[in-house]
Amino acid sequence: MSSKTPRQRVPIKINRKVPKPALAPFTDHFQGFERVEAVRKVFGDRTEEVLKGLKIGFVPNRQMYMGIRDNDGNLAVGTHHLKNSPTQMLYLDVVHELVHINQRMTRRKWFHDEFMKFIEDRGLYYASPIEIQAYEHTVREAERIGMSRDEITSYLRIGDPPANTWRKFLKEMKLSAKQPNKRVTRFPVKIKRETTPKLYAFTEFFQGFERLPAVRDLFGDSTEAVLAGIKVQFVDIPWGTIYPNEDDGHFVITHGYFVKSPTTSVYLDAFLALNLVKSFSSGNGAKDPDDLWESPATLGAYSAMVKEARRLAQSDEQILTHLQLLSFLMPKPAYARFLKALGLPQKQDTTVG
Ligand SMILES: [Zn+2]
Repeated sequence: MSSKTPRQRVPIKINRKVPKPALAPFTDHFQGFERVEAVRKVFGDRTEEVLKGLKIGFVPNRQMYMGIRDNDGNLAVGTHHLKNSPTQMLYLDVVHELVHINQRMTRRKWFHDEFMKFIEDRGLYYASPIEIQAYEHTVREAERIGMSRDEITSYLRIGDPPANTWRKFLKEMKLSAKQPNKRVTRFPVKIKRETTPKLYAFTEFFQGFERLPAVRDLFGDSTEAVLAGIKVQFVDIPWGTIYPNEDDGHFVITHGYFVKSPTTSVYLDAFLALNLVKSFSSGNGAKDPDDLWESPATLGAYSAMVKEARRLAQSDEQILTHLQLLSFLMPKPAYARFLKALGLPQKQDTTVG
């Protein structure tokens, strides 16, 4: 007789044959930026060439604005932001990100090292030399188009940065004390805000879920109907994750992760997403969808996932891999409280200084 605990198996089938998500050309969504002086200043004669070669990977998540895809040097753009934010904000965001594109093109290692620092610790974002350089350039443009000091400050502030870092950062911006310039309201650019995600049926990729007791506990007799109604979208983002999109509930799935991860891991992420759907629909969610990730509904769904993971003999370390996206979206103290509430160990803090 073997003394080993038998590994728990989940009786489901995952269809891994997924088309790779395509990136969109930058110029399909952002036209005319080659005419913007603040952009020409960055790339000079290479402006057209750089913008023509640039691509966008969309991120269907409300918390995501714009960023750089460090793996391939393209842009990451939040679809909710693109659809709903004022033109002026999108315009400045693009000016900002294009500075990063140039940083990465000209000093790749420096860019990568600095980028990783705040990916691992959000508190370092406003202290980052790549951000200070990009924001300084953007602030000059914001002043040129007539934004007031207060408007610029509120544009710059995302989340709740450490007070000291924020103060130093604002000083670096050298905001003008003069009266604002005459307001520019027309920009020489055109922005296409609509994106059309490719959606598939959940049941095409996740089979046998309707037979699992843990899933039936969630939806009872409506299990088949609920699963049949779920749509999925595959994306190429840095975190391996499955989550329901905040706007229409379709599942957002990281392509590479879905193709390569062990079945149990994919199952637990799908189980988590199903729990999130259930909690959000039962009115447990936050009133403002922007607060969703810190709501009791989210905590409830994660608790259910942790419980199921423990039943499947997953280690704490394995369980923590399902919290990657959350650890990025949440401020550090909130994330620490979240882990504590789930009975999970705090990750060792390896940050120096
Ligand atoms: Zn930046």
